[in-house]
Amino acid sequence: MSEFNYQNNQLHLENCNLSDIAKQVGTPVYVYSKKQILDNFNAYKESFDQYLSDTSYTICYACKANSNLHVLKIMADAGAGADIVSGGELTRVLRAGIPANKVVYSGVGKSRSELEQALKAGIFQINVESKEELSDLSNIASEIGINASVALRVNPDVDAKTHEKITTGKKENKFGIEFDNAYDTYQHAVSLPAITPVGLTMHIGSQLTDLAPFKNAFLRMAELVTDLRDAGCTVDHIDLGGGIGVIYEDSDKPVSIAEYTKLVQEIIAPLGCHIIIEPGRSITGNAGALLTDVMYVKKGNSRQFAILNAAMNDLARPALYDAYHPIWPCHKSEQGNLEKYDIVGPVCETGDRFSLNEDMQPLKSGDLLALMVSGAYGAVMSSTYNTRPLVPEVLVDGNEWKIIRRKWDVEDMLALENFD
Ligand SMILES: *Cc1c(COP(=O)(O)O)cnc(C)c1O
Repeated sequence: MSEFNYQNNQLHLENCNLSDIAKQVGTPVYVYSKKQILDNFNAYKESFDQYLSDTSYTICYACKANSNLHVLKIMADAGAGADIVSGGELTRVLRAGIPANKVVYSGVGKSRSELEQALKAGIFQINVESKEELSDLSNIASEIGINASVALRVNPDVDAKTHEKITTGKKENKFGIEFDNAYDTYQHAVSLPAITPVGLTMHIGSQLTDLAPFKNAFLRMAELVTDLRDAGCTVDHIDLGGGIGVIYEDSDKPVSIAEYTKLVQEIIAPLGCHIIIEPGRSITGNAGALLTDVMYVKKGNSRQFAILNAAMNDLARPALYDAYHPIWPCHKSEQGNLEKYDIVGPVCETGDRFSLNEDMQPLKSGDLLALMVSGAYGAVMSSTYNTRPLVPEVLVDGNEWKIIRRKWDVEDMLALENFD
C-alpha cells in the first residue's frame, strides 16, 4: 500500500496534507515518507529472515538513490549497512551513524584519496572492478599499513533487459571484471601484498522487471565460487548488488522480493557465504514525490502545455532516460472530465519535459501537482542548471513533517564563486 493517499480529495503523504507543506515550504519541494522507506526496507528483511533463516546477510542500502542524511539515519536506525560509490558518500553514511563494518564501496573509478579514506575508516569490503585498481589498492594499502578486504566485481555478461543507460552486467558495459578473467584475477589478488580477497560481487542493472537475468547471473557466480574454492581460494562473501525495480507505470511488473529471495535461497545460500544485497531504488523510490506548481497553461492551436516550476534540473530522469513519473493533482477535482497536456518545465531545453499528451483534470495556474515515485534518483541527481537553486527536501512521519534539506537561494550559490 502506498503512503500517498487522498483524504477529502486532498493528496496526503501519511497523514500530512501536501498542500500545507507546499504552502509553508514553497515549491518545488521533495517530500518523503519515513514509514514507506521503513516498510520497503523491512520487506527485504522479513523475506530474507523467512527464506534464509540460517544464513548471515547484510542489506547495504545503495545510498546513491537518496543520500540525504536524515534518510540515511532512518536506514542506520533500522540496522542497514550502505553501498557507497564515492568518498563523499562514505562521509555521509558514517555521519548518519551507519557503522563502517557494514559499508561496501563500489564503482569503476575510485581515487587514491577515496581508497585511503575507505581503508582508514575500516569498511567491510572494497568492491574492486579491475586489475589496475587492484594493484593501486595494494600499493596504497601497503604504504599506509592497512590490509584491504576486497571483493572482485564480476561482470556476469547477462542482459538485465532494462533501459540501456542503467544496464551494467553485459560484457560491453564498463563495469566489473569480465567473467572469463575473473578466476585468474582472483588468484592474482591472493598474491598481492596487503590485499585479502574475501569474495565476489555483481550488480547487473537497475529497474529489473524480469527474474531470469538474476537467475543467470546467480548461476554464473555460484559456479565461479565453486571453481575458486576448488583451486584453494577462500570465498566468504557474495554480494548480489541491487536492481529490483519499482512501479512507475501501471504496466510495470517489477521482480517480487519473495521470488528474488527464493532464488537466493536456491542458488546462493548453499555456498555458505555471507550474503550482501544492495537495493536502492526499491527502498526510497515510491516513498517520495516532487511537489510542483503549474505556472502557466499555454494553449496552442494543436496542443496545450502545462508549464511547471519544477524542471529537468530538479528531476533529471525524464530528460536522462525518457523516464515517466506519474503526475497526480494535489487537489483532485470532483468532475471526471480529462484534457490532454504536455507537462513541461521552464528550462531552455526541449528535453525539459515530464510527459506528452498526459490526461489530466483541467489545470490552471497555481494548481499543485505531485511528480510521483521520485524518492530515488530524484534530489540526488539534481543540478543548478540555469542557476536554479537546489530545492528543499521534507520528511513526513505520521502527522508531522520537517525540513531535512533547507531551501537554497541564489546567494548560497554565488558565495562559492566569490572572487575578491
Ligand atoms: C546503483 C547501484 C545499486 C543500486 O541499484 P538499484 O537499482 O537502485 O537497486 C547497487 N549496487 C551498485 C554497485 C550500484 O551501482
